[in-house]
Amino acid sequence: MNPAERVLLELQPLLEQFRTAAVETDRSGRLPLSHLRELGRAGIYRLSVPSAQGGYQAPAELLWEVNESLAAACGSTHFVQAQHQGGLGFLLRGHPELLTSSHLDGERLCGVAFAHLRRPESPVRVDTTAGGWIFRGEAPWFSGWGLMDEVVLAGRDEHGQDIYVLVPLEQLEGVALPELSAIQASSTVALRMHDLFVPRRALVLTQTLEEMALRDFRSQLGYTALPLGLVREACRFIQAKSLRQHLQQRAQQLRAKALAWSEQPQEALEIRAEANLLALRAAQAAVVSVGGQANQLAHPANRLLRESSFYFLTQLNGPLREVALEKLVMQDWSGALV
Ligand SMILES: Cc1cc2nc3c(=O)[nH]c(=O)nc-3n(C[C@H](O)[C@H](O)[C@H](O)COP(=O)(O)OP(=O)(O)OC[C@H]3O[C@@H](n4cnc5c(N)ncnc54)[C@H](O)[C@@H]3O)c2cc1C
Repeated sequence: MNPAERVLLELQPLLEQFRTAAVETDRSGRLPLSHLRELGRAGIYRLSVPSAQGGYQAPAELLWEVNESLAAACGSTHFVQAQHQGGLGFLLRGHPELLTSSHLDGERLCGVAFAHLRRPESPVRVDTTAGGWIFRGEAPWFSGWGLMDEVVLAGRDEHGQDIYVLVPLEQLEGVALPELSAIQASSTVALRMHDLFVPRRALVLTQTLEEMALRDFRSQLGYTALPLGLVREACRFIQAKSLRQHLQQRAQQLRAKALAWSEQPQEALEIRAEANLLALRAAQAAVVSVGGQANQLAHPANRLLRESSFYFLTQLNGPLREVALEKLVMQDWSGALV
């Protein structure tokens, strides 16, 4: 058995543990730090890292299975560990020497705050100064406050270039957000910076908005594993075998398409939006199967319904919004009564 396969095996008892605690985790304000540490000890943060950097270079199918099964067990746990993996991905691309074994073991945790760059006006502005940059403004989303040690923070400079830097979180202010409906345990805040000086040595990478848009397609497709994991979990609540089979077959078709992705951007959007829609329907079917009790926030089917709605928002950009809205409103009316 190779190291990546061993990680999958070691994850199994953790997944059961996370699933059992998922409702409690969901209703708490903050994910237990132990979840992130245990995943690190199992080796999950090494899976997508090349062997030259101490990783296990796992094949796409194995990564997919890990993402799907962890998202099925506990959406909040998956979401927060994915932010750390996202942070490590930036370090690897920009400055692999910034990546330490503590990062790979989950002893040092690194979140990300960059989604705001997709807005027409970046709320984080960067001014070049002697020896580095001054960051000003507020990043509207950062998950893992109180859990992470540092953040890959991005802002736009006076030339329209996006600057990504690695910053210890104690240099930033976490601003509480209104209560979230899904993944409350992600400890999501806005990050405020007060004329924050960042030295040049903290630079992770620079990229243009066009480069970011191209990378978006890959991550939108990769995170299709999350809604498909949710479909898997929702099926536990649906008694009718034929209905479960229908959902599972559709999930299998989308999984196969995603794993055989031709790198064509529109195809990535279609697959992701279809998976989001399938998860929403599966979660709603789980709620209907359970009945009135599923209206309680503490019922697992209720959590799935809220998480299925959240999956429409994460990695949301203009093109994904367009395709998702089209499918939500226009698809499958052919058999309607009127
Ligand atoms: C609970 C939660 C936790 C999150 N955690 C993180 C995190 O840890 N790190 C992180 O980086 N992100 C995080 N996000 C952000 C997330 O990945 C999405 O970016 C976000 O949900 C999209 O919603 P929005 O309101 O920020 O964007 P919106 O303002 O709705 O914009 C979405 C997209 O629409 C397009 N758009 C918007 N306005 C215009 C306009 N006027 N003209 C043209 N196009 C436009 C842009 O392409 C934009 O990207 C989190 C989000 C949530 C809800």
